[in-house]
Amino acid sequence: MTTTLAPRRTSPLPRPGTAAPAAPARAAAPVCASSPRVFQDPLLEEPPATGAPAQDRRRYADLVADAQDACQSCPLVVDCLYRAVVEHDVAGYVGGTTARQRVEIRRRLGVVVQPEDFDTLAGVLGGSRPVDHDEVLRVRAAHPDETLEVLAVRLGCSLSTVKRHLRRERNQPSAPRPVAVRPSRRQVLEATLAVTRPAPRGHQHAA
Ligand code: SF4
Repeated sequence: MTTTLAPRRTSPLPRPGTAAPAAPARAAAPVCASSPRVFQDPLLEEPPATGAPAQDRRRYADLVADAQDACQSCPLVVDCLYRAVVEHDVAGYVGGTTARQRVEIRRRLGVVVQPEDFDTLAGVLGGSRPVDHDEVLRVRAAHPDETLEVLAVRLGCSLSTVKRHLRRERNQPSAPRPVAVRPSRRQVLEATLAVTRPAPRGHQHAA
């Protein structure tokens, strides 16, 4: 029997050539900024692995459903998706897509980006300030005996953000590579709709 982690519902994205959600009259506010309970939940950034307890998988599916609803009503969704696919490799649910879906979208488009932090995607965090990689390393070096929770408080970011930066440092990522191809917004939308399209009944799999 196959398992569905994330609900495969209608994509929160507008079809290419159709209008995006309500055009902002002034600087539009990201809907996720008012939903920190959903968008800052560590489970949304690190989905449960195959074989994780059903309770975690159910909660993850509920979080994704709530995030889908938020992105669907967000006036920034097209720009947000484009940046999350082409410019920033961030974690979590962003621009109507999961991190795994964005990997597949980039693969289809031939796009390569360096890993970054969710916090650097302007406007998608409600309350926390941006924090960069070097700053996390500096604070870690200055306070080697403190727990990661305390470091997160010092930095004003989430625990998962601290963990991700330290993991990235441990893995010593290769030098930044340029974006091989810079696709158009339409190409990103089309690839996204292809990737997020609900699977036929009986062929659903984890997203
Ligand atoms: S993740 Fe992007 S599209 Fe979704 S609510 Fe936040 S700013 Fe809007």
